[in-house]
Amino acid sequence: MKKISLYIHIPFCKKKCFYCDFVSYEGVEEMVIEKYFQALYEEIRAYRTLLNGNYSIETIFIGGGTPNYVDVEYIEKLMQVINDSFDVQADAEITMEANPNGHATEEDMSRYKRAGINRISLGLQSADDKLLAEIGRSHCFEDFRHAFAAARSAGFDNINIDLIFGFFEQDQQAFYDAVGYVIETGCEHVSAYSLKLGEETPLYEVYMERGFDLDDEDWADRQMHQYVCDALQKNGYMQYELSNFAKEGYACKHNLNYWNIQEYIGFGVAAHSYKDHARFFNTSSIEQYLEDIKINASAIEEIEQLDVQKQKEEFIIMGLRKIKGIEIDEYNRRFGSDFLADYSKEIAYLTEAKLLENDKKNVWLSEEGRDFANIVMMEFIAEINY
Ligand code: SF4
Repeated sequence: MKKISLYIHIPFCKKKCFYCDFVSYEGVEEMVIEKYFQALYEEIRAYRTLLNGNYSIETIFIGGGTPNYVDVEYIEKLMQVINDSFDVQADAEITMEANPNGHATEEDMSRYKRAGINRISLGLQSADDKLLAEIGRSHCFEDFRHAFAAARSAGFDNINIDLIFGFFEQDQQAFYDAVGYVIETGCEHVSAYSLKLGEETPLYEVYMERGFDLDDEDWADRQMHQYVCDALQKNGYMQYELSNFAKEGYACKHNLNYWNIQEYIGFGVAAHSYKDHARFFNTSSIEQYLEDIKINASAIEEIEQLDVQKQKEEFIIMGLRKIKGIEIDEYNRRFGSDFLADYSKEIAYLTEAKLLENDKKNVWLSEEGRDFANIVMMEFIAEINY
């Protein structure tokens, strides 16, 4: 039986953060939430025939948005619908993202756990209340401490904490203190993202009005990145992807499936899927999503069939995100060609420039190369497109 992952998008938040460009809605009426979940259940059930008997579910990721913003019942029912519809492996990794001030009491966390969720990803982002307010987060540090303690008391033994850095004029010491706090919690996994500010976000407008040149902050961003990498590694967290760190045995299987270009099905508004070398994109309009599901139980707006060239590009880009890099044997097996021969020129000059390293089994970004990851990745794509 083949393995596959599921992603479920819950597009509701208490309040829209100023830097957010995910598909999520604030202040939505209960009636819309109710309709959305009914549609989601229908969309999931419609996949029963396609997946059953052929696939077992290896990982599930309930993301958003803020999945713990909606009443816990919706998530319990969602898990029930998934379990009734598919063959979910007994040891499947099942993650739910949660915000500290959503439904996050010990009782709520126990209910998520009983529903089958076994990994919680908590958004701390910063331990500095001043910065949290400036970037429009609706929680404070104290909320996080309660939510983390509640998740532990409910028995979650696999918790990720999200951090973001790279805000303009960010207090670096406060960030370093936050890293220290995260280590103290003893959480199993940390995602530390460098801010990528979309032009459509309110914070981008604020920065522009204040005349900030975002490139000026690059060095501070790199300093914070280096700090978080060093501090986490010294404390038993292995960096296994550009922004992700885990204690041994706790790397996120779901995200590894993305980086290893494995198949997954996405449900909900704006969700993507990857199956049989094609990417499927659901509509990003919630009204359209509800309408489409009502008519034919599917909200796919676009399908992109990837040719071999594009498959190679994705394999290389995603592979280079992993610290261990691209697995050469896997490339050769998938594409029936020789990676080291296909890219001998690029490998030679990127190695000469000390941006890439290889041991004939894997090819990975050097420490310096990680700071120029996008540039290195583009080198491989440029060749493919010629
Ligand atoms: S909680 Fe997450 S998804 Fe919701 S607005 Fe903030 S950043 Fe966006």
